[in-house]
Amino acid sequence: MASILLKLLARRSSTLLDSSSTTATRNLSLVSSQISQHTAKWMQDTTKKSPMELINEIPPIKVEGRIAACEGDTNPALGHPIEFICLDLKEPAVCKYCGLRYVQDHHH
Ligand SMILES: [Zn+2]
Repeated sequence: MASILLKLLARRSSTLLDSSSTTATRNLSLVSSQISQHTAKWMQDTTKKSPMELINEIPPIKVEGRIAACEGDTNPALGHPIEFICLDLKEPAVCKYCGLRYVQDHHH
């Protein structure tokens, strides 16, 4: 008698688990479809250049003296601290914050 009752309870709990797991799977597939749509929105435009390509188009900025002070763009909201860059090297020095390039302006 008691064993039959236990079997019934076990069967009921297993069916409950099954129904909840199917609901979870349905929710998950819904979320993943939303993610793919969201990602597709950003993958559409392949004509736009990457930030690195854009910054490389800007010619190196000539600076008098051995030290360049970079504050990034004119927009102070970008969180760019004043970066002092040493220009002793032959090749243009690159600001680690905004990627702008600086060269020492030799005018002898
Ligand atoms: Zn910078």
